[in-house]
Amino acid sequence: MEKLGTINDRYKRKHKKFYSEEENRVKHRERLRRNTADLKERVIFHYSKGKEICANCNFSNLDALTIDHIEEETQPKVRGAAFYRQLIREGFPKGYQVLCFNCNRIKHINYKRIKNNYVQL
Ligand SMILES: [Zn+2]
Repeated sequence: MEKLGTINDRYKRKHKKFYSEEENRVKHRERLRRNTADLKERVIFHYSKGKEICANCNFSNLDALTIDHIEEETQPKVRGAAFYRQLIREGFPKGYQVLCFNCNRIKHINYKRIKNNYVQL
């Protein structure tokens, strides 16, 4: 008996011809990229109240903006498109803000310094 595999495996087998053509693979990747970019823009738009800027320094390049969990210092269980979909599905829960990658990184470094009683010279 043929092993069925995951839904994704079966889908890929069914569409083997489609994926065997480079042009189609490129189209598929482009669709996924656009989908992720659309989700990110929607989430960034919401959490920045339509401004699409960093809450700390007003940096505005969408490519370098990210969602920050304000209180928690834990990593989200899902990232990227799955994380954006989760926030949308949950109706944009409170407790998140938009930061640029620099401000987000600095925030986490400062948190670790405080947590570890590390005193900067
Ligand atoms: Zn910033």
